[in-house]
Amino acid sequence: MRSATAVHHRSGGTVCDVNTTAIEVHGLHQKYGDFEAVKGIGFEVGRGQLYALLGTNGAGKTTTLDVLEGFHAPTGGRVRVLGHDPFAERAQVRHRIGIVHQEAGFYKDLTVAETIDAWRRWTPHALERREVLGRVGLAHREQVRVSQLSGGEKRRLDLALAVLGRPEVLFLDEPTTGLDPEARRNVWELIRGMVDEGTTVLLTTHYLDEAEQLAHRLAIMHGGRIVTEGTLAEVLGRRGTRITFRLAGFGPADLPYGSDLVKRSVELSGEEFTVETDAAQEDLHTLLVWAHERRIELGTLEVRRPSLEEIFLDVAETEKVAA
Ligand code: ATP
Repeated sequence: MRSATAVHHRSGGTVCDVNTTAIEVHGLHQKYGDFEAVKGIGFEVGRGQLYALLGTNGAGKTTTLDVLEGFHAPTGGRVRVLGHDPFAERAQVRHRIGIVHQEAGFYKDLTVAETIDAWRRWTPHALERREVLGRVGLAHREQVRVSQLSGGEKRRLDLALAVLGRPEVLFLDEPTTGLDPEARRNVWELIRGMVDEGTTVLLTTHYLDEAEQLAHRLAIMHGGRIVTEGTLAEVLGRRGTRITFRLAGFGPADLPYGSDLVKRSVELSGEEFTVETDAAQEDLHTLLVWAHERRIELGTLEVRRPSLEEIFLDVAETEKVAA
């Protein structure tokens, strides 16, 4: 982690340290005509941290990245990348960031080597071609035309171009979409390596395991808003532990309610009960004593924390109902 004398500046009422904060987003709104794709979101990414933006299709993730990459001025709110406005002060930011878009635009007739060399010509402090191709596992495809690369190999070439200029901040929009499981893991290693070297990464992904594996912090977006945000432990910890069991002939009102059960909610679907609780041990004990005294068998009894996938699906479902 870099250390430097702290220089503080005010942004949107909070004090940010430009030596420790690489990306700031405060009250960001973004419109396309009358349609508001991003509706007032805020988050910060510390230097050398990896932040994952998750969300349903059309949630506003790519739009947020586009603003941070300096392609649009925000319709409302304020963003800073490495302490600069990425749109108004693009020259100060451009060579310090790397970008992997969802869709690459290559010259298909060039070879991999020619593509890298073309980019090297106007990239200050660029890595050597061999080194960058080695990093993304494409060294053996140097003389192959881009048109002959597989989808996964094109994704790796994308990454090669993004990391060529040793960026301080890397924006990755679904970097592993279309990759086979081994290639995904190779890309994860590459990203981890860059984060270990101090690179800040803002990543969007639809693979929740990718966020679980890589992210220091994450946000789940839906309909232009951030619904939940924090470290993985914080996001998971906002939901209670789930006790599930099958029980025929009983309803939620038959369970040991009241002072004994510190539950948050009880749901019944068919014969399956789900109790969400903040005091799993206590509630489980109450439930087991209740069942034992009545000689009731609780079928397929399970106690577990909700997964990120369940939280994601809950967000999508709850917000759909609320819409
Ligand atoms: P996905 O996961 O599907 O890639 P996303 O979270 O990245 O989605 P965005 O691409 O940011 O979402 O799109 C957010 C919303 O803005 C969507 O409803 C999309 O249709 C709309 N949108 C995006 N780009 C434009 C544009 N250039 N003009 C008009 N609407 C747009």
